[in-house]
Amino acid sequence: MKDNIYLDQKKCILCGNPINNCIELLSLNEDQTLLKCPVCGLIFNNKMRIDFDVIYGKNYYEVDNVKDQCGGYFNYSSIEIGLNKDYYFAYKYILNKSRDKKNFKLLDIGCGYGFFLKQFLADNNIILEGIETSSYAASVAEKSIPKIYDKPLGEINLEKKSYDAVLMFEVIEHLINPFEYLQKINELLIDGGYLIISTPNISNITFKLLKKKWPAIHPETHNIYYTPKTLVKICEENGFELVSLQQKNTLRKSVNHISRKISMKIPQTSIIFKPLKVIDDMIIPFPSGGSINAIFRKKEII
Ligand SMILES: [Zn+2]
Repeated sequence: MKDNIYLDQKKCILCGNPINNCIELLSLNEDQTLLKCPVCGLIFNNKMRIDFDVIYGKNYYEVDNVKDQCGGYFNYSSIEIGLNKDYYFAYKYILNKSRDKKNFKLLDIGCGYGFFLKQFLADNNIILEGIETSSYAASVAEKSIPKIYDKPLGEINLEKKSYDAVLMFEVIEHLINPFEYLQKINELLIDGGYLIISTPNISNITFKLLKKKWPAIHPETHNIYYTPKTLVKICEENGFELVSLQQKNTLRKSVNHISRKISMKIPQTSIIFKPLKVIDDMIIPFPSGGSINAIFRKKEII
């Protein structure tokens, strides 16, 4: 087996505070520690995996053998309805905003199999584009979405000031360079364009109770964990202003996370969890790991 490849952090990504001034919150594994910056409150891994082609292969999305799984999903295809329910706040918002504009241009960064974009296929007024750096997931998305890029955002030549809205659902916590992404997104958006983000909420009470067992702790793929405060701060520093922010708990996410954790420890149980699709399709308030659903607007430069 190949060794994992890491990037060592030297300072807090948000405020630049040196890493040796940061507080050790948890030991994640023999290589990685979760740190908290005492200045700005950002929580992040001291070392971040950068062997992305190893992490985000087919096994990230679909596994036959649970032992092969790498911090991702069991059966990504089966959770389409559940995911679209999680992001219904964004669907509603985009549908509403797109009515005021001809040829509304939408970019979904980390679009996976294209589940969210697919909902707008019948709407001729919305131009759909997706970015998916996992070439496996991109090959699935391409079957339904006409324009999919399978490279990181910084390597794609996209027209500046042309997008009306950019989405990042469960993406920002994976990034090792969120400033670069947010700056690039800001350049791509029209003045007053929207950035819509969903990410795990580490200020949720369940993190304080469960610590390392908190459902969103994935040292392999999650590098930075946000609270509403640090998410707003990093977006504001990159030219965005907050429109709305909600903190959500759902049973669907709890079942998904808990079943994944148990099955990774006891592979035989995965057969029991596979039929839980019924619960997966439900959105019921429940003390799960919790998410932040936030809408930002590109700040007008005065
Ligand atoms: Zn900091």
